[in-house]
Amino acid sequence: MPELPEVEVVRLFLDQHLIGKIIANIEILNPKSFIGNPKLVEGQKITKTSRVGKQLSIYLGNNLILLFHLKMTGQIILGEFVFGHPTPKEDKSILPNKSTRLVFNFSNGSKLFFNDQRKFGWVKLVTPDELKDSQKNLGLDILSSKFTPKYFYQQIQNTSRPIKIVLLDQSKFAGIGNIYANDSLFLSKINPLTPSSKLNFNQASLLHHFLIQIMTDSIKAGGSTAKDNKYIHPDGSSGQHQFNFQVYQRAGEPCLVCQTPIKRIKIGGRGTFYCPKCQKN
Ligand SMILES: [Zn+2]
Repeated sequence: MPELPEVEVVRLFLDQHLIGKIIANIEILNPKSFIGNPKLVEGQKITKTSRVGKQLSIYLGNNLILLFHLKMTGQIILGEFVFGHPTPKEDKSILPNKSTRLVFNFSNGSKLFFNDQRKFGWVKLVTPDELKDSQKNLGLDILSSKFTPKYFYQQIQNTSRPIKIVLLDQSKFAGIGNIYANDSLFLSKINPLTPSSKLNFNQASLLHHFLIQIMTDSIKAGGSTAKDNKYIHPDGSSGQHQFNFQVYQRAGEPCLVCQTPIKRIKIGGRGTFYCPKCQKN
């Protein structure tokens, strides 16, 4: 799954390249990949893009919204730019290919391809109310201006679950993925198992600070690229954020601060990486 910075990188790119374009039509090569009446999209101008957590939306002139979910293997391909799961080079030049599920044809002749090898992803045409409804179980987006240290502190006070689990709870905060939860806890010197309600305001502020910092740095770097090279920068290169991982995927390697080997445990079923010396509390 892409994490928030990857989706935000895609959004910024689409914002730059799609606003003002008119969709001539959508070719649906796999019926399950598009939910809604494609006729309602024809002739519509793209007016804006938005994102809450990992949900990406494209707004149309008729007030309807295209909601994108890339899931595991979804890709958005526009010109030479590929976002999402990697594609062998030879496949990129000939589109549509066997993984192409949707083709958005624009009035100026350009095309956007929605490719999805495993067919878990989808695009749904929704009304503003339906969009709101689909986001009702999502917490505040952590790049929202309302996501303040005070708000964050209040939210983590009312549960005693381990802080690592609370960070990943999308109904509390939208968009914190496993990589960023691990690294922000390390930078804040907070043990991932610490009951959320035991953190004091200073610890919460520090954690808030590093969460925002890692996310914004990562967006600048073009999103992170996990070991399997899953997410690709708009210029076709891999994102560079993986070189900045503090503890994520570094089990057994020396802590960047104290050289103690990084430990890997499972919390709530998710791989959790931390330094047992630096993250005592
Ligand atoms: Zn350490």
